[in-house]
Amino acid sequence: MIDTHTHLDSSKFSDDIDEVINRALSVGVTSMYLPNVDDESLARMNSLQERYPNHIELMLGLHPCDVKGDWKKILDRYDKLWEENPTAFIAVGEVGLDLYWDKTNIDEQIQALNHQLDWCVKYAKPFSMHVRDAWEPTLKILRERNCPELNGVLHCFTGSIEIAREIIDMGHYLGIGGVATFKNSNVVNVLSDIGFDRIVLETDSPYLAPVPHRGKRNESSYLQNITMFLSDKLGYSEEYIDEVTSDNAKLIFQR
Ligand SMILES: [Zn+2]
Repeated sequence: MIDTHTHLDSSKFSDDIDEVINRALSVGVTSMYLPNVDDESLARMNSLQERYPNHIELMLGLHPCDVKGDWKKILDRYDKLWEENPTAFIAVGEVGLDLYWDKTNIDEQIQALNHQLDWCVKYAKPFSMHVRDAWEPTLKILRERNCPELNGVLHCFTGSIEIAREIIDMGHYLGIGGVATFKNSNVVNVLSDIGFDRIVLETDSPYLAPVPHRGKRNESSYLQNITMFLSDKLGYSEEYIDEVTSDNAKLIFQR
């Protein structure tokens, strides 16, 4: 299994990160992809990758909730990191739009997103994209920029079947995680319609732990709870789900 979106650099793991990673490895999670959110996360991510070079891959991007007054300076610095060593990162992330916490800076969020999507095209990297209360402006950008050179994962996908279909038609993938196991979630309906051909799995640790861990700290080993739940609800074997979603992850993230 591949956890395509996990914030293992979070301070929530600072006391027991080695146990967390070993638990993930012991249940069959072979790779964990870490999105960057801000400047502080990058140093911690680098040290984790040094210690687990065969299991941890890094992304570089500025999270929409961290698009603050200094966003241009941060992106200037990230421009240089991409230029210096494009192979250090497997994807552009975590990028996107979030109008749940702050609507006032939507113009800056859109500018930052477009700047970072340029990296995808320039360096041939997929994106890992966060969308919260922002489907309309996100789809507008994806439609306008739709081309074979731009593709990625809509992480923590919770949209409608129609949105799922449109995103897949544009060549992108959907990241499915713990939210699928929540009672009021529409994710199982979406998956029963579209199948697993364009699905990758993720935990988004330490957030959004799946049932039966809901409300607690999430971790990459809980990927098996997500697989078990989906297998039970949708009638595919766990092996099938593991295999298809891992193959999809390797394809989109070029591993
Ligand atoms: Zn995230």
